[in-house]
Amino acid sequence: MIRLEFFAQVDERKCTGCKLCEPICPAGAIEIEEKTATIDIDRCIDCQRCIDRCNMENAVSRVPRPSEVVRYVDHSDLDPLQIKTLCAKAGLLPDMPICGCMRTTGKETVAAVLKGATTPEDLCAMTGLRAGCGMYCMTRIFQVLEACGISLDDPPDRRWINLTLSIADIPREKVDRIEEAYPQCCVGEDWKRVTQRPTTSQKKEGDHV
Ligand code: SF4
Ligand code: SF4
Repeated sequence: MIRLEFFAQVDERKCTGCKLCEPICPAGAIEIEEKTATIDIDRCIDCQRCIDRCNMENAVSRVPRPSEVVRYVDHSDLDPLQIKTLCAKAGLLPDMPICGCMRTTGKETVAAVLKGATTPEDLCAMTGLRAGCGMYCMTRIFQVLEACGISLDDPPDRRWINLTLSIADIPREKVDRIEEAYPQCCVGEDWKRVTQRPTTSQKKEGDHV
């Protein structure tokens, strides 16, 4: 969920149609038509990346919306068991935020797919995912899409790269090297917690000890 008070607007007099802004928009809100960028206010999530990218021409500015808009996918009319099952398939807990910045939950993300999202851009536009740092939630976004049966190839314009790797996929020897170089990051401890979690049967055995 995200509350939006602003959106990005292009000054047509300044825009050169260079297309630098279009591929970095996480919500797929920008299109270049007749050598001028246009922004779909109904998709824009006010992440401001296009403003940063257009720093030569300064053609994009942040302007107030007529009234505050809340982007949120309501899941109350969906089957809770279906949402729970798809979250589990994606390796997520339904109430767990998958985006550290916007706190969008696994169940809202799954609900967005069940209500028509088919790309990461759709998910961002519908829920506000990636409006913050835009990095760490990408893995979760792909996990949800894959769990819902949507497999994506890398796009030709490199708007995103389809990766569902996590810290558990880093080989132990590399973890040791990172730990040695950056001990303050506690990567080794995180890796151990993720890769050496006891299984359900081990937990049960432990309960009897
Ligand atoms: S980066 Fe700026 S000048 Fe280039 S297309 Fe986008 S809005 Fe226009
Ligand atoms: S979502 Fe971000 S990059 Fe896309 S138009 Fe809005 S402010 Fe610009």
